[in-house]
Amino acid sequence: MGDYTPDVAGTGVPTLAGKQVETADVKPPSGVLYHQLRREPLNIVGGRGSYLITDTGLEILDATCGAAVSCLGHSDERVHEAILEQLKKIPYCYSMYFTNSAAESLSKFLVDSTGGKMSRAYIVSSGTEAVEAAVKMSIQYFTELPVPQPQRVNIISRKSSYHGNTLGSLAVGHHAARRRIYESLLSKNVHHISQCYPYRGMKTNESVEDYVVRLARELEDEFQRLGPDTVCAFVAETMTGATLGCVPPLPGYLKAMKAVCEKHGALMILDEVMSGMGRTGTLHAWEQEDVVPDLQTIAKGLGAGYAPIAGLLINKHVVDTLSNGTGAFVHSQTYQGHPVSCAAAYRVQQIIKEDNLLPNVRAMGEYLGQILHKRLDGHPRVGDIRGRGLFWAMEFVQDKATKEPYPPSKALSWTLHTTGLKPEYSISLMPGSGGIDGVNGDHIILAPPYNTTRAEIDLMVDRTVRVIKEDVYNAE
Ligand code: PLP
Repeated sequence: MGDYTPDVAGTGVPTLAGKQVETADVKPPSGVLYHQLRREPLNIVGGRGSYLITDTGLEILDATCGAAVSCLGHSDERVHEAILEQLKKIPYCYSMYFTNSAAESLSKFLVDSTGGKMSRAYIVSSGTEAVEAAVKMSIQYFTELPVPQPQRVNIISRKSSYHGNTLGSLAVGHHAARRRIYESLLSKNVHHISQCYPYRGMKTNESVEDYVVRLARELEDEFQRLGPDTVCAFVAETMTGATLGCVPPLPGYLKAMKAVCEKHGALMILDEVMSGMGRTGTLHAWEQEDVVPDLQTIAKGLGAGYAPIAGLLINKHVVDTLSNGTGAFVHSQTYQGHPVSCAAAYRVQQIIKEDNLLPNVRAMGEYLGQILHKRLDGHPRVGDIRGRGLFWAMEFVQDKATKEPYPPSKALSWTLHTTGLKPEYSISLMPGSGGIDGVNGDHIILAPPYNTTRAEIDLMVDRTVRVIKEDVYNAE
């Protein structure tokens, strides 16, 4: 079972028992409060391309760009230079009083990248903040329409979703294990419907079209249950990332959901914190879905990890409403539009263009999917392999016929992650647990950088397969 003990705290992440920890990678606790309080993680002192380097000199293949973040790989000198240049110009100015050229350039790039479908960008520091800003802006929008609709206080989002960890974003999401102990503080005005999750949600013999119709009907029913004119927005990830593990939307799904929102005058917020900014093969994941959201969040691939940054892209009609209303978004943060973060992200986005990386995401993504299927379709514990672009996951089951998930007590995905970090594998895999109902189920995600190569993908899959072969049966 590797290092981890059951998820006794119910946090969705297994805890560590000191006794079981292998002494090789454990040091006396430092002053940092890590996610695991009783364990110090590997110390990363450097990085090069797709590799992270530890203080012991181990080179770890970063198969997940951290949490789907480092999309240019590590240590791109061009981004370092842009950051340094901005630091020398001006490191910080307060966005309540001033703007800065880096924020202006980045925002213009982002708006243009939507073909003008979005008309403004609101730059913050994390995905969570972007989600909270999106929800607050949609509430404000309805209070500032020429005929205000302040009764629109309900948000509909989806079960088994993750939209961030602060109280507002945690309420929007539905990760049962992460919500459990904070439930008393979470808004009761957020309501959750089913995900588009064919592996477990689609009935035997049901067609894609019928499944999509059924999901759209569920949304319609939820509008009716709440009162259609009380719903402010529907929130969904364009491609579900962390919770279920890289589930692309079925053709027509998001379009059908948008139609229900439009019918009732509600907004659609697409959360592209993880799936956006090129990860799925187009800069915006919604471009592949024939749908345009009213509000869109972006984060991880935006700054590629060179600086903390996220954003909210806003459709013209929402901007116009606020502009003609109070003329201000009732929300402000100290580090909004931070010059250094914006300069880093702007350079990252230029490099994605200059190096023509999106075609590589599509080509390498297709290759990654093919070899994952080739190597693991026959594995008795790999229930599903799915993905798009350079964003792929494998879901593990105890029995392929019944799709019986692994319980949290097995800590399977975290065990795979820990095993991957052993020197003989040296690969960082992204673990995911609690997908199905926030409690049961395991998957791992592969999300390599956009400039990855076939050779790197071969190596990544080879190491992943070896890790799975070592650990999956041990977990039983
Ligand atoms: N929304 C989605 C879809 C995410 O995947 C995440 C993080 O993984 C967030 C929001 C929260 O982003 P952050 O961790 O940057 O606050």
